[in-house]
Amino acid sequence: MSQATDVAAEERGQIESVSGPVVTAVDLDARMNDVVYVGDEGLMGEVIEIEGNVTTVQVYEETSGVGPGEPVVNTGEPLTVDLGPGMLDSIYDGVQRPLDVLEEKMGSAFLDRGVDAPGIDMDKEWLFEPEVEAGDAVEPGDIVGNVPETQTIDHKVMVPPDYEGGVVESVETGEFTVQDPVVSLENGEEIQMHQEWPVREARPVQEKQTPTEPLISGQRILDGLFPLAKGGTAAIPGPFGSGKTVTQQSLAKFADADIVVYIGCGERGNEMTEVIEDFPDLPDPQTGNPLMERTTLIANTSNMPVAARESCVYTGITIGEFYRDMGYDVALMADSTSRWAEAMREISSRLEEMPGEEGYPAYLAARLSQFYERAGYFENVNGSEGSISVIGAVSPPGGDFSEPVTQNTLRIVKTFWALDADLAERRHFPAINWDDSYSLYRDQLDEWFEENVSADWPERRQWAVDILDEEGELQEIVQLVGEDALPDDQRLTLEVARYIREGWLQQNAFIEVDQYCPPEKTFKMLGAIKKFDDEAFEALEAGVPIDEITSIDAAPKLNRIATTPDDEVDEHVAELKAEIETQLRELY
Ligand code: ADP
Repeated sequence: MSQATDVAAEERGQIESVSGPVVTAVDLDARMNDVVYVGDEGLMGEVIEIEGNVTTVQVYEETSGVGPGEPVVNTGEPLTVDLGPGMLDSIYDGVQRPLDVLEEKMGSAFLDRGVDAPGIDMDKEWLFEPEVEAGDAVEPGDIVGNVPETQTIDHKVMVPPDYEGGVVESVETGEFTVQDPVVSLENGEEIQMHQEWPVREARPVQEKQTPTEPLISGQRILDGLFPLAKGGTAAIPGPFGSGKTVTQQSLAKFADADIVVYIGCGERGNEMTEVIEDFPDLPDPQTGNPLMERTTLIANTSNMPVAARESCVYTGITIGEFYRDMGYDVALMADSTSRWAEAMREISSRLEEMPGEEGYPAYLAARLSQFYERAGYFENVNGSEGSISVIGAVSPPGGDFSEPVTQNTLRIVKTFWALDADLAERRHFPAINWDDSYSLYRDQLDEWFEENVSADWPERRQWAVDILDEEGELQEIVQLVGEDALPDDQRLTLEVARYIREGWLQQNAFIEVDQYCPPEKTFKMLGAIKKFDDEAFEALEAGVPIDEITSIDAAPKLNRIATTPDDEVDEHVAELKAEIETQLRELY
């Protein structure tokens, strides 16, 4: 955090009491959300309540040993992030301290207290390629130049939103630090590659638009049945072990977003360590470069202080908004928002606020919606278009979706991917329950799929949905009387549904040809199953016994199309359809 280094007006108070992450101070002249430094060690905190002469602060670091009488210093500034080149390929804690820099400073992976570092390297030199020249007029938000931030991403240098703008007086070209002025305006304003922004405030935009493009995930069940829009919101609730992390990581790798912000919010310590260790090794399927070249990782393990967990989602989304302003599509994943809500609950209880449902503060719903509100497809201030899609994992205790975080999230998000412990137990992955899940973007995205994949996309999807619905109803009867008691046409429907489930909905995140499925393949695979459905019912009507129909050689191949390489799918599916037709028609 930049204000760490330059505490300007020395507004001092003293600690009165310490209760975990919550500290009260007296005689401190402060405003809500000011950043303060607490105690002799100067631990970073944020003002969350002011009552008369008593100021309450949430501290972003462990407070043991800090006691009454020690000083509290106000910076007079809100919690901000440093924005500029260098954010990609970085791993931060919840207040944007780069973990690697902190580790270096302290020589260990255990974060010491009172150690601070700016969110981006202030000394590193970057190549600045101007996109304006002297005499041009620029407005707030306008792009004035380009910095190759990583091999994958060009970082756009923009006029800060709070500048006046005007005529460019001079422009630099070459290598500069983020603090060097690279463009000067006639009115005296100087533009650097570095900006700061308060995390709790959304960056300004021109207009929020209705999203009409899907965020292609490469997951058949998502793109096919429950698509997310670019700029949309989704929740993945699910009990432990049902696949939240695998799903989030598949999305991080394969979703067609330019930038990924991955917030690991207070999951069990060792799990986050896994993410920190795994992510830097992941290749980017779009470019072959490391995935980190278009990723910012925010890591808060559950053994890190609770207040830093509270702030991590804001830090993450502010970074996302900055790339959105450059015209990029950003996908932000928060894993898990339940830990974030628990952090809120803990702080609220320390404040002795009136608890709401299950001890969560009454403002839980408001905070959740403020966060998801920052998602969207936007016309930016500079006229470019960009999006932030927000995907929040929810980990309800015991997998019980009736608890407050899941319920409040459900009211806000427009896509709901319900993970299911039973499916996970049966090793049906992704364990997304097709009865409970939904996407409110489905209709508005149809046009895109019709134009870009096939005019039959909505119809074919509806066909699959109807078969799965019918299967659900038939299964209830089967449980009572057994499958053999059903009439043949219903048994055939069950067989078709099985191919949809096993051959199409199931997708293995650990098999290379299957982990990403382009929408064309998603569509064609379903087409092959539909072909079987059409031909099989004709055979049945012609009097062919059901057992003969279901035991044709071609049928089991429907479960294996997933492992056909993308460039062979067309041919393979055409052959398979022909085989199905020949083999079934031979029977009558
Ligand atoms: P959670 O984060 O909900 O606790 P994980 O994402 O860690 O659960 O998933 C638990 C396990 O389920 C994984 O280790 C993996 O074996 C299996 N799994 C989940 N999703 C998939 C998938 N799409 N393909 C294959 N296996 C999966």
